[in-house]
Amino acid sequence: MALHIQTPLLLSSPLSNGKDRRVWLKMEALQPPGSFKIRGIGHACEWHARAGKRRFVSSSGGNAGLAVAYAGRQLGVAVTVVVPVTTSERARRLILSEGASLVVHGAAWPEANARALELIDAESVLIHPFDDPLLWEGHASLIDELEGGHCTPDLVVLSVGGGGLLGGVLRGLERHGWGHVPIAAVETTGTASLAASLKKGTLVEIPRIEGVATSLGARQVSGQVFDMCKGRDVISVVVTDRQAVSASRRFLDDHRVFVEPACGAALALAYDPTLLPTPARDVLFVVCGGATASVEMLDGWLASMEGPEPPAA
Ligand SMILES: *Cc1c(COP(=O)(O)O)cnc(C)c1O
Repeated sequence: MALHIQTPLLLSSPLSNGKDRRVWLKMEALQPPGSFKIRGIGHACEWHARAGKRRFVSSSGGNAGLAVAYAGRQLGVAVTVVVPVTTSERARRLILSEGASLVVHGAAWPEANARALELIDAESVLIHPFDDPLLWEGHASLIDELEGGHCTPDLVVLSVGGGGLLGGVLRGLERHGWGHVPIAAVETTGTASLAASLKKGTLVEIPRIEGVATSLGARQVSGQVFDMCKGRDVISVVVTDRQAVSASRRFLDDHRVFVEPACGAALALAYDPTLLPTPARDVLFVVCGGATASVEMLDGWLASMEGPEPPAA
């Protein structure tokens, strides 16, 4: 049995504009571990459990690590999450509360990941946060759930970190005959690795990650997902941190659901339709969610961003 739940698809009154633009929300924020990630990670973990693995290892202190911890507990498989010292107290607590072992190692993610790799033996497996076809297959189930429903999207809007969600949505749209539907792939200015790659026409590694949308912080997107974009209508959109944070705040008021700025980045296109890259009547937003921030953090960011918008870098 799948570890994710079938999420609601809402036609949003506050975000729609009469008959001209209908905004549909796929509410992945309601997944038990707080984000869409359990779809792909649950699928991968079930597959590895069937293959006899006795331990899952993750080096993500974010929503991926949380989803692995949740999946392991559900499947009765031990989980170790290795995180660097920079991982927040909140993230550590969430991982521990799912019963996973937490190892704190190294100054930054590369050291933690190296330690995680050392822990792998014949009975354990590293669960990648975004670069694995098993993940894309699992994420594609969110598009399967549109089948037979009321939403035939003219445009899909989603956030991009390492591109796992994008890979799943590309796959899901294709198998339902919607391969021609454009996708707005949204990043923040400090995490825009897909934007850089699409612009150059080849895979680019950006020098650093900046800003509050930490769940989008992959310096390079999956090469296979980048290849999957070829011949498909994937349009890059880059928003500011302030647009992302403000969308998360407004979404909380409008739909009473909290999402990280990583998800607010995509929702920014609902709050400012001039950001939509192409005209569309039925727009499907993947409300990807995220559990690593809090309302308090959101309000702190908003307060620190008051004043005129700084000029784009
Ligand atoms: C992981 C994550 C993303 C980005 O997903 P990728 O598959 O890495 O592109 C976006 N939003 C949230 C909340 C996430 O946890």
